[in-house]
This record gives sequence, C-alpha cells and structure tokens, in this order.
Amino acid sequence: MALKLIGYWWFPVFDEEWPHPKRLVSKWDPSLRRRIADYLRSGQKRVGYCGWSYCRFGCGRNGTIEQTDGVYAWPEGLAHYVEVHSVRLPEAFVEHARAQDFTIPAALADMDYESDEEPYDMTFWREWCRREAPPRWVDRWGEMLRKSLGGRGRPKWWNEPG
Ligand SMILES: [Zn+2]
Repeated sequence: MALKLIGYWWFPVFDEEWPHPKRLVSKWDPSLRRRIADYLRSGQKRVGYCGWSYCRFGCGRNGTIEQTDGVYAWPEGLAHYVEVHSVRLPEAFVEHARAQDFTIPAALADMDYESDEEPYDMTFWREWCRREAPPRWVDRWGEMLRKSLGGRGRPKWWNEPG
C-alpha cells in the first residue's frame, strides 16, 4: 500500500502546491503535542535526502531523512514543526497515532519500502492542505507570474508569502 506523505511545505521555485507551515500554526493540547512529536521522531528511517532540509521559520537545519510508520511517511523535521512551532497535522494522522498508543510498530524494521512500486500517496496531504490552508491571492498572483515567466520559477525578488 502506498505510504501517505505528510509534512511537506512551501519552498521557493518548486513544490508550489504546499502551504507555508505558518498558516497551520495553532493551539495543541500540550501533552498530545509532545506525544505526536515523539511518535514522529521514533518513526522507522526510510530514505535519505540529498542535503539538509531547513526550518521554514528560520531555525536552521532540520533533518535529512524521511521516516514512516508503515501507513504515513514524513520528513524527519516534522517533529520540530509540531514541537517548537505548534504546527498542526491532519486529525486522521493524529487519530492513527493515538490508535497505536503513539508507538511505531516494531515489525517495520524488517520491511523493505524501497521496493514498493508506487511508494507515495500525495493526495491525502494535498487535499488536507487545500482545505486547511487554501492558497491566498498572493499565492495565486505568484503562480500567474510564474506561468507568465514560462514556468521557470519565481523571480529572485519573490519572498515567502507573509
Ligand atoms: Zn524551527
């Protein structure tokens, strides 16, 4: 079964469809937030990225690998967004973690995810982001501009949506 990808954020030039995490900052129950952060951190290591991911709030380097619980997959840095910036995650994911008592299945270590033919389901995250952090006019304007430039990415002066 395809892993449901979560926790991907806006990045200049590519990944146009993902939101900036600042739009998803919200109040968490502190103990639930801690348990989810621990759950994310204890995920089975899956693949490494080429280089570091950087915190979108400016904290610096934030992870180089992807992790999984066998149903969902997320970048290593996602725990940081939850714990430090109080970025919320899909309720379905939170409930999934709770249903497992916030414990990653031990059997995962033996599974070979690399062999999965179609390893990702991007639809879940894309639809949740669209619903919870819909693109604003500034994003649409940026997208129009990008298209008018022939899809070569945003101009150099383009900065994060505020
Ligand atoms: Zn940060």
